[in-house]
Amino acid sequence: MNIEDLLGYARRTGMFWPSAEIYGGSAGLYDYGHIGAMLKRRFENIWLSYFVERNQNYFLIDGTTLLPEKPLVASGHAERFNDVLIACKKCKTYFRADVLLSDLGIQLNEGATPQEVDAAVTKNSLKCPKCGGSLGEAKSFNMMIDVALGPDRSDHGYLRPETAQSAYLNFYREYNLLRQKLPLGLAIIGRAYRNEISPRQGLYRLRELIQAELQIFFDDQAFQPDLSSFTGTTINVVPYETGKLESKTPDDLVAKGYPAFYVYHMAIIDKFYRKILGVPESKFRFLEKGGEDKAFYNKIHMDIEVNVESWGGFKEVGGLHYRGDYDLTSHSKGSNKSMIAKSEGREFMPHVLELSFGVDRNMWAQLDLFFTHSDGRQVLAIKPYVAPYSAAVLPLQNDASINGKAKELFLQLSRKFRIFYDSSGSIGKRYARMDEIGTPYCITVDYDTVDGKSQNFGTVTVRKRDSKEQDRIKLPELESYLQASLNVEFD
Ligand SMILES: [Zn+2]
Repeated sequence: MNIEDLLGYARRTGMFWPSAEIYGGSAGLYDYGHIGAMLKRRFENIWLSYFVERNQNYFLIDGTTLLPEKPLVASGHAERFNDVLIACKKCKTYFRADVLLSDLGIQLNEGATPQEVDAAVTKNSLKCPKCGGSLGEAKSFNMMIDVALGPDRSDHGYLRPETAQSAYLNFYREYNLLRQKLPLGLAIIGRAYRNEISPRQGLYRLRELIQAELQIFFDDQAFQPDLSSFTGTTINVVPYETGKLESKTPDDLVAKGYPAFYVYHMAIIDKFYRKILGVPESKFRFLEKGGEDKAFYNKIHMDIEVNVESWGGFKEVGGLHYRGDYDLTSHSKGSNKSMIAKSEGREFMPHVLELSFGVDRNMWAQLDLFFTHSDGRQVLAIKPYVAPYSAAVLPLQNDASINGKAKELFLQLSRKFRIFYDSSGSIGKRYARMDEIGTPYCITVDYDTVDGKSQNFGTVTVRKRDSKEQDRIKLPELESYLQASLNVEFD
């Protein structure tokens, strides 16, 4: 599938489309429709259950998306959250320098300076790809979105560039509220904003995006999660040192010098993608960043990558970042507040391990990976527990007693499951609509269901999405039938 095909599918099925579409839309802004909003919620919920709720000292918090200037000066964003911009002198189009250069076949480091970009432009005699005009001087461009606050608009603020800052700003209060125990995990699922120079590739580069991030605050001399449950598993990783794809066991990685706590989190992320979401092994990997490509505060930085056909190969959908004590030290200095933790007679600044996921990118990746056409059928073959709707209730004919029973069943099942109700069109078309959005079960109410003389009285037909097989199920057994197949096994 290419980007246009995927966007067409997303629009047609109620997943997502450009924000303010009736006015022609705006680059890098997308709205989620009635199916996409549920798919997003499912992803967020399963992420939360898997990464946060199974740990007794990890919690979900929430924070404002609007922040005053001071914390973003202290964090370094005001000074360093920059991309390099380059404009065409003739047609005035703005380009993000690294994207422009990579489109023209020249690879620069993520941290390349405007001077390095200018040098590459001169050396390769690069011209504007749109009009052939000459390119102006490269400039640093801060990607945060400014907001003027207050009635005289004199207070300077920003829309947050990442959810992580809200977790750092709330660390010390939560640490004290939660009896000063480490490791402490603070997770946020929410929106972040970046003034992308050239938003593109559907949900890949957005100006408003949704992140699911877990910040783990820990004592770097005592953080030792148990790796033994991952013995025998292998993880695909491209280490910075070799630049080649390798399949490594957790023990191999520890022997290579990666800290055990870091490898443990690689293993749980790997399991989340491969086992819980069902991403094929060959389409999942970690890519280690080093040198100029690594954010300066990260001690270890790996991108989480999925091979997404419509994006042309492996692309970043998340990251695992060992940030050391950079964040708390910066905010402690900036705010003049102590953030020192104590344990066994020692005093120290907690370190941070960040698990960061782009929700929109993960949604796109799932659609790209699991939407299939074959034998004239279009099926979103995602795991049943991440499907936007668990089941559909479909009255077979427009008949009062059938409709009555179907509505009753819809209300009953809706207490436990997310159910779609559809009474329009032929049954074949309704099945096809449900296949397209990944609904794992279609429950059909027919004359037999309501006819006291039929031997199938009190039963419904349940059709399975992937096999198209149909089972006749007794109404009292329906809930447990659905429950059994919609459960997710984390271990
Ligand atoms: Zn131009």
